[in-house]
Amino acid sequence: MVASDPLNDLHADVVAIVGDLIRFDTSNPGDNSGPGELAAAEFCAALLRDVGYEPEVFTTTATHRAGVSLLIPGEDPSLDPLLLTGHLDVVPAPPAGWIHPPFSGLIDDDGVMWGRGAVDMKDMVGMILAIVRGWARTGYTPRRPIAVLLTPDEEAGGHHGAHWIVANRPDLLHGATQAIGEVGGFSVDLPGGQRIYPVQTGEKGLMWITARVVGTAGHGSLIHSDNPVEKLIVALEALATHPFEVSLTPSMARFADTVGELIGEPLAFDDHERLVAQLGGLATVIGASVRTTLNPTMLSAGFKHNVVPSEATTGMDVRYLPGSREEVLAHIAEVLPDDATMTFANDDIALETTFDGRIIEAIVEVLGERDPEAVVVPYLMTGGTDGKAFSTLGVRYFGFSPLQLDGIESFWSMFHGVNERVPVRGLEFGVEVLDDVIRRL
Ligand SMILES: [Zn+2]
Repeated sequence: MVASDPLNDLHADVVAIVGDLIRFDTSNPGDNSGPGELAAAEFCAALLRDVGYEPEVFTTTATHRAGVSLLIPGEDPSLDPLLLTGHLDVVPAPPAGWIHPPFSGLIDDDGVMWGRGAVDMKDMVGMILAIVRGWARTGYTPRRPIAVLLTPDEEAGGHHGAHWIVANRPDLLHGATQAIGEVGGFSVDLPGGQRIYPVQTGEKGLMWITARVVGTAGHGSLIHSDNPVEKLIVALEALATHPFEVSLTPSMARFADTVGELIGEPLAFDDHERLVAQLGGLATVIGASVRTTLNPTMLSAGFKHNVVPSEATTGMDVRYLPGSREEVLAHIAEVLPDDATMTFANDDIALETTFDGRIIEAIVEVLGERDPEAVVVPYLMTGGTDGKAFSTLGVRYFGFSPLQLDGIESFWSMFHGVNERVPVRGLEFGVEVLDDVIRRL
């Protein structure tokens, strides 16, 4: 009989779990419709019960919006629990353009697993589950208590997930003061051959603004001086082309110093083409991490060619740097016509923590041992995560879902894009690294 090897078991478990999770369609269209997360949550809870844990499956605003919570006691109960967290929902995945079906979890001949959620973030959910299952199988007790929280609705802002939890069931965090979640810890090979692991230490704030411009309706054949379509388009052009200034928050100042030194020249934040030459695909993220961005994303007006309508509306996705919300909002209000009104489809905070403390030290130690050439750097994420909600409870949130991504060049385009996939070897590396980091905390 072959004795079971804990590392092989950990690898086999993470690969099986991530594949199974991908096959649960947890698409989140954003309007509380869709299949929800309940089936996936029950599957995760069953995996935990199998090894002796007693997780709670909870529902939030509707019976199909669900997650899982578990507290694992630590050797030293006086230590604050560490939160390990991931979301169970995924953005929808229309099958057009996918090489392998998006809910297949198929592993191809090159050892790459395909499917929606492969990197955002059923990979991390699978790693968390495989790690704590490994602990139970081998009788390992972590030093500090570990809280596991798998959430619904992250992809639509967490109003049926993390924000609901913070408002209604903060006990599901079990008093955790620090958290490890998304989005960071994946390897990035720079065009010059250097390798970095960005760790998320902050998030830009977000405002999804609907702006409504009113005017005077009338026949399309006449002279008009108060056409809301024209007024809105003039304002939108000014807003969309406004050059928001580069401003380095502490995370990005550290990123710029470290990566600049690594590649032997300052990062060209004001010259995107050059930044791409320096950072490759990461440039589209980092370029947006050092300035506010405003992208018009929706536009609507009118109903007939020969009728000037009485109003026109636009949707804008605004992502601002920590501390700049009021200034950005004032700028938008000034550029829009005086009679315009603004409403928020989403309005969520920016946050940033410092690149220090035991979690960061442990990440640097572990990656230093396993990938000695690589450099760990902090960065400010352009999107939002459940970290926004959890931070309102005083939780320090780090995005660290480690993956080694050899051979995958377009990591960021896979986020919410087609052909999302993850190398199995990268998952195995990630689960080992994450386990090792947590054991040192
Ligand atoms: Zn995510």
